[in-house]
This record gives sequence, C-alpha cells and structure tokens, in this order.
Amino acid sequence: MAGNVWVLAEQWRGQLSEITYEVLALGKELATALGCDLQAVLLGHNVKPLAASLGKADSVLCLDHSALATPVAEIFAHALTPIIRARSPQAILMPLTNVSLGVASLLAEELGIGCVNFCRDVRAVDGSLQTRSVLYGGKMEAIVKPAQRPAILGILPGVRPPDEGLAETVPPIEDVTVDVQESSSIRWKRYIEPEIGDVDISKQEVLVSVGRGLQSPDNVAVAAELAEALGGAVCGSRPVIDQGWLPLSRQVGKSGVVVKPKLYLAAGISGAPEHVEGMKNSELIIAINTDEQAPIFHVAQYGIAADVMDLLPALTEAVRSRKEVKSHA
Ligand SMILES: Cc1cc2nc3c(=O)[nH]c(=O)nc-3n(C[C@H](O)[C@H](O)[C@H](O)COP(=O)(O)OP(=O)(O)OC[C@H]3O[C@@H](n4cnc5c(N)ncnc54)[C@H](O)[C@@H]3O)c2cc1C
Repeated sequence: MAGNVWVLAEQWRGQLSEITYEVLALGKELATALGCDLQAVLLGHNVKPLAASLGKADSVLCLDHSALATPVAEIFAHALTPIIRARSPQAILMPLTNVSLGVASLLAEELGIGCVNFCRDVRAVDGSLQTRSVLYGGKMEAIVKPAQRPAILGILPGVRPPDEGLAETVPPIEDVTVDVQESSSIRWKRYIEPEIGDVDISKQEVLVSVGRGLQSPDNVAVAAELAEALGGAVCGSRPVIDQGWLPLSRQVGKSGVVVKPKLYLAAGISGAPEHVEGMKNSELIIAINTDEQAPIFHVAQYGIAADVMDLLPALTEAVRSRKEVKSHA
C-alpha cells in the first residue's frame, strides 16, 4: 500500500493561513493522480475547530497540545515523527512560510531521509512524484524526483490559487495523541506586530513599487502620488526599505511580503530573483527601467525603457485627467 498524501495545515494565531488552501489544492491533484487519499494534519493548541475548514482533504488528523501553541519548528517536527512512522504517508506537503519554515528540514533529519524545499510545483508523472524546485534564490530550477518515502516537500506560496483548496464539506476528524516535547533549543520570544495604521500590501489591488533607480528618498512621494491616483499603495525593493525610504511592512520579496495585486508597477527595480519571488504572481506587471536588459523585463507583460522620474509624474497626470473626464461624463 503506497500510503496517502498529507498536507501540513498551517495555522497562525487561530486562523488557517492562505497557503494551506494553496497546498491543499495541489495535494488533492496529487492524491487523485496517485489514487490515494488526501489527509490534512493540523497541529496546534485549541485548533480543532479549524479542521472543519479543511474539507478539501478526505480526512484530518488533529494533534492538540499546549506545547504546539507557538510555531517552534523543532517541536512540530518532533511531534510529527511518530505519527508519520505509524501511518506511512507517501508524501508530505509543507507550506514554506515564516511560520512553518524549518519544519520540513528538521522532520527529514528526524526521519533520516532527504527533503526537497522551495518547490514551485509537484506533479505525479507515471505514478512517481516530480518536483520543480527553486535553487540559488531563483537563479536556477531543478527537476527533482524524490526517491525516498515519505517524500517531504516544502512548498512555496502561490503554487495554486487558494480558492481551489476550499470545500464546503466538513471532513472526518481524528484526534491523534503522541508525546510532545515541551521544550527545545529554539525558544519562541515574541511576535512583532506590523506597524499600526500602515496598509497591508498583500491585500492591495494596485501597487506602485519603487527600487534603487528612484535615486532619492524625496522621489518616493512622486511614486506615492501615482499610487494614490490609481487607488493603490506604494511599496518597494529591499534596498529602498534598508535605506529607510519606506517602512519594513512595504518590502516586497523573499524576505518581505509576497504580493499578488491586479497591477504591479515596478519603477526602477532591476528584478533580482529575491524581489521577483515576491511579485511574480501579480496579474499584470509593468516595468519601467532605463536599462533595456534589466531582468525585470523578463517577468513584466509590459516594459518601458525610460527614466522613472520622467514617466511617473506623466502617468499620474494622465490618470488624473482620465478620472476628471470620467467624472464629468
Ligand atoms: C537573502 C536575500 C534576501 C533578499 N530579499 C529581498 C527581498 O525580499 N526583496 C528585494 O527586493 N530584494 C531582496 N534582496 C536583495 C536583492 O538581491 C536585490 O539586491 C534587490 O532586489 C535590488 O533592488 P533594486 O532592484 O531596487 O536595486 P538595483 O538592483 O540597484 O536596481 C536598480 C534598477 O534601477 C534602474 N534604474 C536606475 N536609474 C533609473 C532611472 N532613473 N529610471 C529607471 N530605472 C532606473 C537600474 O537600471 C536598475 O535596474 C535579497 C537578497 C538576499 C541575498
């Protein structure tokens, strides 16, 4: 018996995270192709009510323990190990976010097998699993066929639309009991709240994103005017945030926020892999850059080789006058 496909249901402060549904959608595809069940595994404290929202899975295994109240990867990996040994799934799909980062690798270490992290996609090819995994911060992609079972796969955000992981049905829920390690060498200190009053860029439909090509912090206001005219928000690349031109909550990318707006306008951004990782799933990407060879043009649907300081004010003007014409029509 080949075993089921499992998805680690990631929850944070009493809510299932969006990536859980993305990974459930992927897991369902795989389980169907492999002819097995999809099981969600939910770990945490007082989390059982969340299991009802995991109807995409055929069933849910729920482990509730006070030591799982905060996401300490070592404790989670240790708790999962005996459950896996007892039930032998063939694949475990684990969200790769700041909350779950490390669980896949530590679990693989506990089980004495390998793991494939940074998976952009997983398919069943001729009955075997095949992943597309990102290497060197996105500069290379590897096709990996994990030989060991279970295949432990760390899945990047954006692998499937979250809506595809939703289902109205309430799945059967099974409580699991194992010895949970109460302490670990990693200690949870505190959660740092995002700056109060700032916008959540992951929820914006329009983003005007600025990079080092903007030249000066004074020019951020020019980009913010365009964002306002378009009804969106301004955000930026890491150097812009590091230099204090914008707050940390506005950073897009690998070490910032992953965004999927309807429009992402990249102004003076080169398109480094670490930046692209955070915005490539935007519906429409428009890039402005003086360098026609800039990598950002490889991910943009529209590219303009121009100076941002010429173009941004002109665009703002054009948007405003278009709005004025509409309001008088
Ligand atoms: C572990 C790690 C994590 C990282 N995480 C992130 C992350 O989360 N987010 C992130 O953004 N980066 C991240 N980085 C940094 C990343 O590698 C790049 O250094 C960064 O994205 C570059 O920012 P940039 O495009 O603004 O600057 P640059 O690479 O300096 O590009 C500036 C661009 O502006 C163009 N330009 C210059 N003048 C003008 C002008 N007048 N008009 C138009 N265009 C102009 C240039 O041609 C150039 O393409 C990370 C790096 C590491 C190692």
